[in-house]
Amino acid sequence: DRTVRQIAAGEVVERPASVVKELVENSLDADADRISVAVDAGGTEGVRVRDDGVGMDRESAERAVEEHTTSKIDGIDDLEAGVGTLGFRGEALHTIGAVSRLTIRTKPRARPGDGGNRETRGGDASGTEIRIEGGEVTAVGAAGCPEGTVVEVEDLFFNTPARKKFLKTTATEFDHVNTVVTHYALANPDVAISLEHDGREVFATEGRGSLRSAVLSVYGREVAESMIEVDAEPDSTDATATVERVRGLVSHPETTRSTREYLSTFVNGRYVTDGVLREAVLDAYGGQLASDRYPFAVLFVDVPAGTVDVNVHPRKMEIRFDDESGVRTAVTDAVRTALLDEGL
Ligand code: ADP
Ligand code: MG
Repeated sequence: DRTVRQIAAGEVVERPASVVKELVENSLDADADRISVAVDAGGTEGVRVRDDGVGMDRESAERAVEEHTTSKIDGIDDLEAGVGTLGFRGEALHTIGAVSRLTIRTKPRARPGDGGNRETRGGDASGTEIRIEGGEVTAVGAAGCPEGTVVEVEDLFFNTPARKKFLKTTATEFDHVNTVVTHYALANPDVAISLEHDGREVFATEGRGSLRSAVLSVYGREVAESMIEVDAEPDSTDATATVERVRGLVSHPETTRSTREYLSTFVNGRYVTDGVLREAVLDAYGGQLASDRYPFAVLFVDVPAGTVDVNVHPRKMEIRFDDESGVRTAVTDAVRTALLDEGL
């Protein structure tokens, strides 16, 4: 039907970073408090995402790897209304399983109150393991595992050599993975998110809820300490609000890097690479930045649902605002005010 066709448009898996993105989104949707991501050789050899989320019983796990199955929407109306969960296309696990060797180990989380009852605690004492190779389910069985879910993806594109050829160097693929995990870590400071590459920890956030502590874990002390708080509600008194809130952290004009990649912007909680928002932040600094230097920013912009067009495309990070100049002004003003408050 129409939902399925819209959903099917676009490829999910382009490179290891797209696998990581889909798996981390699933873990967040599963209400995880801790998510650990481990990749080998930039993710080209292996990706493992472990969470302590709600987990799946055996039936749900088997359903999860079928084509176009999602537990998250009912139909096109949900799609158009904009769903609250991150994943909603029901194709990620299926698609990843088609181009790799995929193992899922999962066990449902015990519900509070189920404690004394062996019958209902997590459904059964053990979890489920499912293995898929190149789209074929090769094993399903009981497995001892902790509550939550581990998804392991090995040998990505082993059966699609044409796609494998498009992978870049290990370093480049790891950069993409790092960027993805960093953005989820910054957007979800209440979740402890860690990243490991070839057995070495790259960063680990604490999940205590503070954005500054997430920034510290990801970017280090010097950056975290230079960060200035932004919090403005530009249109709180206006019935036709363009921007409801702009909040987050931006760096002191002397704490900069030579690329724009540390200007992270999130619209209604979702990471976007939007030129308008980046320019809006840079404008706020006026002439205070040295030439070809860019500040750090982790900025959350909330706009009313329905005033921003986010394409339903698996890889879409681009958006269009109904009132682009209104948003731009609101963001510049919010950051400018924060800098002025610091005497800058
Ligand atoms: P979608 O996220 O779009 O629903 P996916 O293919 O990514 O589609 O996942 C299919 C289904 O598998 C999800 O709807 C969810 O019910 C289940 N699932 C996937 N990953 C997890 C996880 N980490 N924890 C719990 N359930 C999961
Ligand atoms: Mg998903």
